[in-house]
Amino acid sequence: MAISIPVTRTTSPKAKYSDERSLGFGNVFTDHMFIANHDPERGWHDARIVPYGPLAIDPASPVLHYAAEIFEGMKAYRHPNDEIGLFRPEQNAARMNRSAERMCLPPIDVELQLAAIEALVDLERDWVPRSEGTSLYLRPTLIGDGSRLGVSTAQRHIYFIICSPSGMYYPNGIKPVRIHIEDQYVRTVRGGTGMAKTGGNYAASLLASTLAGKHGYDQVLWLDGRENRYIEEVGAMNTMFVIDGVLVTPALTGGILEGITRMSVLELAKGFGIPVEERLIPVEELFSAYEAGALTEAFGTGTAAIISPIGELNYKEKSIELGTEIGPVARRIYDALTGIQSGKLPDTRGWTRIVPRLATQ
Ligand SMILES: *Cc1c(COP(=O)(O)O)cnc(C)c1O
Repeated sequence: MAISIPVTRTTSPKAKYSDERSLGFGNVFTDHMFIANHDPERGWHDARIVPYGPLAIDPASPVLHYAAEIFEGMKAYRHPNDEIGLFRPEQNAARMNRSAERMCLPPIDVELQLAAIEALVDLERDWVPRSEGTSLYLRPTLIGDGSRLGVSTAQRHIYFIICSPSGMYYPNGIKPVRIHIEDQYVRTVRGGTGMAKTGGNYAASLLASTLAGKHGYDQVLWLDGRENRYIEEVGAMNTMFVIDGVLVTPALTGGILEGITRMSVLELAKGFGIPVEERLIPVEELFSAYEAGALTEAFGTGTAAIISPIGELNYKEKSIELGTEIGPVARRIYDALTGIQSGKLPDTRGWTRIVPRLATQ
């Protein structure tokens, strides 16, 4: 059954940007947003598209006091034939519901999530930038609303999706980043909320990344929160290493998020015949592999950058230098993945979902 989503169009469309390559990330928002409400009696209801604007929520809302929030991040790409493609959105929808379960928020039917995303992107298709490396970033978000300060599950919920055209992540070419391996603060712990895409994890990470930034590092690499020993994530990216020709990445032990870029990179690597290992990686292994000449590449993976090569890793007094250029494994995977996402290479795995043109146009 088709899900009907009424549209209220803006009466004052925004001026479009002039230089879409220098949009940056998350600075500009489109004309409309999707919104739906939830309460125990009606479940999810009133799905609609309205002009972009402020939400009305109760000041006692659990999202404001107890971080009752989860979100997703995904991109729509303009293909060479002008169709708009979404990259594996059903994976984002499934992950949204895994996050919802962990945070005691109501799941949203995957069909409703996909219908909402498609209807909104269809309406905003002129906002999908055209230049190479650009995209329309989508931010589906679920928050707890209500008027009660006791710590419990929320009385009401709001699901909304906003869209932000984003520029090239690498306007000056891919440049490896400098990473500080954090040995004092932790972001999440096994058994905590690391497997959920939830705002509180980011709140917990800000101090360490601000301090690392002051010391000239681009991001923090987190160690596990129990032993302060095993490699977890870099900022909002999963991490991968090439050790003795094997692509090694931390196993999903609960402390890290299951990235959709991560799963796609692993599938592509296997397709290339590159051996892949998902396992615990003690931080000292990186240093011994580096000293033995076996550690040849390190990179982060995530929707924003796709692949972000790591040029330097600092841990306490020691450092690993991996050069100033993207390595061959990262390059091969980056080209394959961005080629599929942008519609320039054939999508043999069925990862892309073309946004249909609906009657709302
Ligand atoms: C979103 C996110 C990632 C990357 O996930 P993708 O689906 O690849 O974008 C990795 N780590 C954290 C903590 C995240 O929030």
